[in-house]
Amino acid sequence: MKSFSGLPDRRSSLTGHTDEGDEIWIIRSISQKLYTCQGCYDSIQVGDEHVVIQYIGRAGGTEHAHWHRRCAEEILYSQIRDLRAVSAGESSRPRLEARGRKPAGRRRRPR
Ligand SMILES: [Zn+2]
Repeated sequence: MKSFSGLPDRRSSLTGHTDEGDEIWIIRSISQKLYTCQGCYDSIQVGDEHVVIQYIGRAGGTEHAHWHRRCAEEILYSQIRDLRAVSAGESSRPRLEARGRKPAGRRRRPR
């Protein structure tokens, strides 16, 4: 398996699929408020670099969660299919929201 250590960063995000066929996008973020990591349930402090896990459902719709980078690396990455790095621009909020509005059948998989 390829190493994605240090990713996502400012320039690169990660993307892949769940076993159920939903898209997962992993995006670097800086906390604007206090979050609870969904991996360890400890806090992510304001100003901390962390990752946002954005899900886009196969049938449309989005949801997201905040994780410590290390928790995501240790718990999540090995469960994601076809994990790969993409330009951070591909994972901008408007782009992902637009993807969430379309059923997957009409969506082109990113290359
Ligand atoms: Zn954590």
